[in-house]
Amino acid sequence: MKDCVFCQIVAGKLPCAKVYEDDDIISFMDINPIAEAHTLVISKGHYEYVHQCPPEILSSLAAKLPDIADAVFQVSGAEGYNILCNSGRAAGQVVPHMHYHIIPRFSGDGLLGEWVVKQYDNPDKMEDLCQRIRQKLN
Ligand code: 5GP
Ligand code: ZN
Repeated sequence: MKDCVFCQIVAGKLPCAKVYEDDDIISFMDINPIAEAHTLVISKGHYEYVHQCPPEILSSLAAKLPDIADAVFQVSGAEGYNILCNSGRAAGQVVPHMHYHIIPRFSGDGLLGEWVVKQYDNPDKMEDLCQRIRQKLN
């Protein structure tokens, strides 16, 4: 994708602070970190949503994620980390090329805010959604 910044990074046309690369994925420092050592892991191919990425590429990414997260965790000295993937603009995705954020976290850093939890209005709703999702997976 000509206009995609991450495709340009993969092609070597834009610089990045790279921490890891193999045939399927590349990992580099986020240029506008929300925490020190905020790191991205991306597929080399251009896929916008996670569900559009071939499982074998996701497998490569998942296989390396623990090592990269561990390295970020150790180097940042953080107490924890979020692994976050925004899929779709409504979910906060700005760069439409699938990527995972590794975000070091410290107690009280206030970075991602508290989740506002909800209850189902209708007690049958969750079961209905569950069955519909399960059917899609069959
Ligand atoms: P999104 O909101 O799409 O999940 O996150 C995109 C991330 O990519 C942001 O955290 C942003 O700082 C980072 N980013 C955007 N452009 C560049 C770039 O050219 N180089 C690097 N290293 N990171 C980028
Ligand atoms: Zn791309």
